[in-house]
Order: sequence, then structure tokens, then C-alpha cells
Amino acid sequence: MHLTPLEPWIARKAGLERLTRAELEAYQLARLQETLRLVRERSPFYRQHLAGCPTTLGSLADLSALPFTTADDIRQNPLRFLCVSQSEVERVVTLPTSGTTGTPKRIFFSRADQELTLDFFHIGMSTFTRPGDRVLILLPVARRGSVGDLLADALERMGAHGIRHGPVQDVAETLTTLFDEGANVVVGVPTQVLALVRAPAARRFPTAPIESVLLSMDHVPASIVSALEQAWPCTVYNHYGMTEMGLGGGVDCEARRGYHLREADLYVEIVDPQTGEPVPDGQPGEVVFTTLTRHAMPLLRYRTGDISRFLPGACPCGTCLKTLAHVRSRVRGIIPLGAGTSISIAELDEVIFRFDKVLDFTATLSRADGGPRLSVHLHLAAPPEEALIDPVRVALVEEVRAVRSGALAVSVTGEQSTGGAPPGHAKRRIGVEP
Ligand SMILES: [Zn+2]
Repeated sequence: MHLTPLEPWIARKAGLERLTRAELEAYQLARLQETLRLVRERSPFYRQHLAGCPTTLGSLADLSALPFTTADDIRQNPLRFLCVSQSEVERVVTLPTSGTTGTPKRIFFSRADQELTLDFFHIGMSTFTRPGDRVLILLPVARRGSVGDLLADALERMGAHGIRHGPVQDVAETLTTLFDEGANVVVGVPTQVLALVRAPAARRFPTAPIESVLLSMDHVPASIVSALEQAWPCTVYNHYGMTEMGLGGGVDCEARRGYHLREADLYVEIVDPQTGEPVPDGQPGEVVFTTLTRHAMPLLRYRTGDISRFLPGACPCGTCLKTLAHVRSRVRGIIPLGAGTSISIAELDEVIFRFDKVLDFTATLSRADGGPRLSVHLHLAAPPEEALIDPVRVALVEEVRAVRSGALAVSVTGEQSTGGAPPGHAKRRIGVEP
């Protein structure tokens, strides 16, 4: 097994010959002090937010004395976060709101910030991409500086070629491009890539010679990973990131047991989502990060809303970098049902995507008369016959804890997908009826 390419890259960035945990942490602490100085000096938001807080940190653990930054803080007035003049902002990403406030989040990047992202994409992709590879990019590519556009530029740096396709609109058209362009690597959203092997149109094509797949933008169900690895001669890797992190955050190594993070650029903590207190390594909690190298809009202790944990023990790849467990849930995506039970979309994904005619599904929770009920609606690659739908219902009853225990009733319906665009890019979640 090869060492993650992130380790020698992070060592170089930290000016170290060989990376050790202690030296990496000393570097992180120095960058953290630098970031604190920068935001206090330049950002009106942080000048106010950090009033009365210590101005220097004795150790990384002292960071927990500083207040969190939330998505709402950014929504309220993103310009107050800026540490450069507006003319130095190279790209603004506007994120549609997922909450109740209705105001979108805006995230600013300078040219230097975009270079940090490009550099991470270049090194992260080299985990499973070699010079000469042809990478089909199914992420947004249309805008200059968009995630897919930066990825394509990063691939050129390593002598690979990024095919700027964009999200799948039509499975047959995307598969035609895949074969015509000779792609051997695919990067996309889990359900979109799944459509390339399961949609009826896929039957008209031979097995695609895909060696590696990188899934991003949403949690990655193990059932989708095995569906892809059975259909193509490929190995599937996970990427974790969000716009606020600078698009990229971490990527699997060959061990694929969790992501190694770009620890030269990000300092990541896991905190109890209720109390905000840091939890010991190994314990699950909310992922909180602090940027260490960003110019335009540094973020301190930003609450991601994602749930994960640091895996204890050494990674088989031999790195001294931490391993963050694959993110499967969001804090608000775990819906309590009373009596200590809960339900999340990730639990449903693992059961439902195992059925090879399922392209996608929606799940809606209602609490009308007689307790909570989950309505699952399947999008199928075949007519919605009872022989397809009933086994899904039986599997949910047997395998989803809240359903098995009787805390949650479930019903399953289905329809044949019209063969149009596969599911889009929004993070999938359980709908909740008021
Ligand atoms: Zn590893």
C-alpha cells in the first residue's frame, strides 16, 4: 500500500523534510496565530467576535476557548469577514440556503486561495490518477473557478486530462462521451454515477473501462460503492469537502477507511454538537474547522453540521496524518423519533441502494395520527411491480432499527424513471412534513 501523497505534500508546505505529528502540530499552531492576527486586524466580524478573547494561543487545545463561527454568521453579512479589498476577490460562491433564513451564504476567494484549492486537487487526485489518465468530470464546470473547472486545471498539472462534462443530464449522452473520450477515471456525485451503471440506457453500452471513481458532494453509501465496483473494474474513493473549506477538505488513501485531511491548510476539531466541548479522538461529534492559509475569508472554528470522528490507531498507509471517518450524517439529518430512536437518510441508503433496480428514492417523514410514518418513493429502472417494491419494504422492516423496533411505520411506493436527468447535486435528506 502506498503512503497518502498528502503527507509529503504537507511536509513540503510546512517546510519539513519528513513529517512528524509533533512538527506538524507546531506548524499548525504557528499558522493559527498568524490567522488570528490577520482576522483581528482586517475582518470587522472577527474584531468584534473575538473581543475579550486571548490574543495568542499556548497550544492547539487553547483554540477551544474561542467562539464558533456559524453558517448564520456568514449569511448575516459575509462582507464583514473579508480580509482583503473587494478588488482582490477573484471568485464569489453563492450557496443556496438550506435553512429557514432564506439568505444565501457567500464565500470569497482570492487568487491565492484558488491556488490552494488547485494544489490540493492536484495532490489529492494523484492518490489514484496517473499522468496520461483521462478523467470524466461530472461536477459543475461551467463557471471559471467552479469546482469542476479547478479540478480540470489541477489534472493538467499532473499530465492527466480532465474532460469538462458537468453534471449528468442524460445517461446515454454521458456514456457516449465517456467512451468517445476514452475516460478511465470518473469524478461525480454518488447517485449520478450510480445512474451510469443502473439506468436502462446503460444496457446499450459495453462495460466501461473505468479504473477509479471519486465520489464527492454528498455522503457515500457503501451500497453505491459496491454497485459501482461490481459494474466497472474500478476502485471507489471518497472525497470530503465543502465550499467553506476551500472546496476540498480530505480524500481517502489506498486503505479507503476514512479521509486524510489537508492538515497544512485546515485544523479540524470534533465537538459535542450540544455542548460545543471538544470530544476525545475516536468519539463522534460535529466537524469544526479553522482555515490556516486562507487570505480573503479565513474562518475560525466553523461549524460544518457534519458528524464524524477521528479513527483511532495508525492508518495502514503509514501516514502520521489523522484519519477522519467517512461522513454519513449531518447533525440536523438525524431525526429523533422518541424513546431513544432516530432515523437518517444514510441508514435508508444502505438498505435501499442494494436493490439493483433502484436509481434513487425520496423519503418523507410525517407525524400525523398514530405516530411517525416514513413514506419511501422509489425511482426504478423498471416498471414498479410488487416483486420489486415489496422486498425493499421487507428489508427496511428487518434492517432499519427504528422500523424494526416499531417506533416508525414505513410504506413504499415506486415509479419507473422516465430516463431523463438522474438526481442532481443537492445533498439528499429525509423530508419532514410539518
Ligand atoms: Zn492512509
